[in-house]
Amino acid sequence: MKDHQGRSIQYLRLSVTDQCNLNCRYCRPEGHSTHSGTLLTPAELEAIGAAGVRLGLTKLRITGGEPLLRSDVLEITRRLAALPGVEELAMTTNGLLLADMAASLRQAGLMRVNVSLDSLAPAQFFALTGGGDLAAVLRGLDAAERAGLVPMKLNVVLMGGINEDKIPDFVALTKHRPIIVRFIELMPIGESTAFVTERLVSSDAVLHACPELTPVPGRLQGVARVYQLPNAVGKVGLIRPMSRHFCGQCNRIRVTADGNVKPCLHHEVETSLRGLTGEGLVAALRQGILSKPAGHTMTSHRPSRAGRNMHQIGG
Ligand code: SAM
Repeated sequence: MKDHQGRSIQYLRLSVTDQCNLNCRYCRPEGHSTHSGTLLTPAELEAIGAAGVRLGLTKLRITGGEPLLRSDVLEITRRLAALPGVEELAMTTNGLLLADMAASLRQAGLMRVNVSLDSLAPAQFFALTGGGDLAAVLRGLDAAERAGLVPMKLNVVLMGGINEDKIPDFVALTKHRPIIVRFIELMPIGESTAFVTERLVSSDAVLHACPELTPVPGRLQGVARVYQLPNAVGKVGLIRPMSRHFCGQCNRIRVTADGNVKPCLHHEVETSLRGLTGEGLVAALRQGILSKPAGHTMTSHRPSRAGRNMHQIGG
């Protein structure tokens, strides 16, 4: 359905947990307590998905927190995949547990995964994530490819003075692998607000570091501008929430792990869906879409008005 700005809203992101098994410095540093409430059950998630499909939200994403921490993630996936009208079912994960789960997720009906990965150097990955095992994530990527969870996207948050110099290594991955590496600008939300001015790097840095990248004509994949190396199998995407707002093309709404519809990542507006079923649930989701703000007001000096951290909303 269309929102008040005439945007066609087709994409529903469902956070299934606010827990995570990594402690990324800009998202959920160690010691940061999470639980924001009782998590939505598989049946509640299915009902929200069904209500979304009724309103034309045909693309669903399971996210978190880390969705693979949910012991019932396969049941959630199966229920959402079985909804008539769902055209795409994807997941965003840090990939740590993916190696063991990729095949079962595919069997349950998952179509694609986006994996978040900010460094290809084991020691740096360990430091950035508060103890993450890069080798496990890389095994997860291979397993996801083998299982057919493709095309796979790799999400890299760029941070000046930290991983900016690794841009060419990430871009090189696309030479022989059919993946889309997407560079995302660091946003001042939650934890990262304290250091965004110091660490924010415009995605232009990718084009400066790899001038051989050329735009793929007409390609705007989701919110990313798409580029490619000569003769490469994969692609490179630039996502620029800071340097070039894409609010005018935003086609998504979110549901938090504790059951609130959040029409804009960067606005505090939320409505609880808890306890609603049938027409009441559809009406609340519709209202959420109609209350979607025209755009965010965030700059490197003005933080997001999300009112929560990314891991609680479902990035
Ligand atoms: N655990 C899953 C994962 O790691 O992909 C899903 C949740 S995580 C919050 C989703 C995405 O949000 C990750 O790609 C993460 O890098 C991104 N993210 C978190 N905080 C961010 C920030 N301040 N700016 C930009 N991206 C951020």
